[in-house]
Amino acid sequence: MASAPKTIPQSSPLSAEANQASALAAYGGVLTVDLDAIVANWRKLEKTAVPAECSAVIKADAYGCGAEQVARALSKAGCKTFFVATIEEARRVRAAVPEPTIYVLGGYFQNTGEHYARINCRPVIGDLNELAEWDVFCRRTGWTGGAAVHIDTGMNRLGLTLSDAQAIIPRINAGDHGITLVMSHLVSAEQLNSPVNARQLAAFRSIASEFSGVPAALANSSGIFLGAPFQFDLVRPGAALYGVNPTPEADNPMQQVVDLKARIVQIRTIERGETVGYGGTWTARRPTKLAIIAVGYADGYFRAASSNDGTRGAEVIVAGKRCPVAGRISMDLIAIDITDLPPNAARRGHMVTLLGEGITVDELAHHFGTIGYEVLTSLGHRYARVYKGGNVEEPLVKPAAEQPPSPPRVEQPASPPPLPS
Ligand SMILES: *Cc1c(COP(=O)(O)O)cnc(C)c1O
Repeated sequence: MASAPKTIPQSSPLSAEANQASALAAYGGVLTVDLDAIVANWRKLEKTAVPAECSAVIKADAYGCGAEQVARALSKAGCKTFFVATIEEARRVRAAVPEPTIYVLGGYFQNTGEHYARINCRPVIGDLNELAEWDVFCRRTGWTGGAAVHIDTGMNRLGLTLSDAQAIIPRINAGDHGITLVMSHLVSAEQLNSPVNARQLAAFRSIASEFSGVPAALANSSGIFLGAPFQFDLVRPGAALYGVNPTPEADNPMQQVVDLKARIVQIRTIERGETVGYGGTWTARRPTKLAIIAVGYADGYFRAASSNDGTRGAEVIVAGKRCPVAGRISMDLIAIDITDLPPNAARRGHMVTLLGEGITVDELAHHFGTIGYEVLTSLGHRYARVYKGGNVEEPLVKPAAEQPPSPPRVEQPASPPPLPS
């Protein structure tokens, strides 16, 4: 007769380290978001824009960094206005921060008024039809929560045309208009010398001045660095908060926010002449030692960063040294050439650094053939997520020397809140 399988004790007496290790072993990589760095970046932008108010754009899950966590940290730091893209994003942010103003950039759709009212957030109105529909809702319900008006000055994406904006000036002068912000968006703010900047500034300044008493906003991250005339009453930084360089023609004034590490799952040695990975596009030119790490393009590490016999790809940091990607990046795995490391410097189970230790979001963007924005918003959802700082009650990662490390707070993907009935 077969004996019953042994049961594993529910709470085995593991040390804190072992607990942390076993929690992290369930993941191929660890994504650490430094909330203190986000707060420091926000303060720097706030100082640069003073006396304008500094808001925070936290759409797309705060550019992949976690909208709720970022909203809580920045709200504690004094940020009073947030921008998201959709009502659903606003709902999540409102659950995290009860006080601040939340604007939804995506425009107003008929029959969504109740959503705005229920969570007390404001639509960014992008054309006269939206405005008319919003007015109907406000009149019918008596809702006075306010809305922004977005005016297009050259992007040709969202926003009232200049002549449509002119048409609503009488309403502004009549008072009790419910418009709490007038805004536009820059086309080429990261290019200091683009003549488009001056054209948009002139157009916006002229129309905004007719919205008397209504705060005005034009600048995104890069726009803040175009100087005081671009800052108006409120600035709307996004990318710079998360460490992307808002001044690509100069050194990055922002702190790095995201650190990404992956686990070595195998070390192997191959002969000269052997190839690595799909398609065999990378050939060993010497006896080669490889570290195989447990992150791939499904985790947002773009396949474009692969290397082959003709082209170098991205680099990762193994045992403190930069080592090149070898061959094609797979869905879940990447091979790294670690031949130049001292013997035993890297072992199975060690973590390597994909972002951090000098590898910036902008460097990865270069290898991925894109911009830092897309690197951040593509960060996968398979990582263990660790949040550092942000004035949280319990520090998550304690200094190693003093105390045993506490188990990291591993964020589970939140289940979507129930839809309103
Ligand atoms: C995304 C966005 C921003 C933030 O832009 P960054 O370049 O990330 O600072 C500001 N305003 C509008 C309208 C946006 O859509």
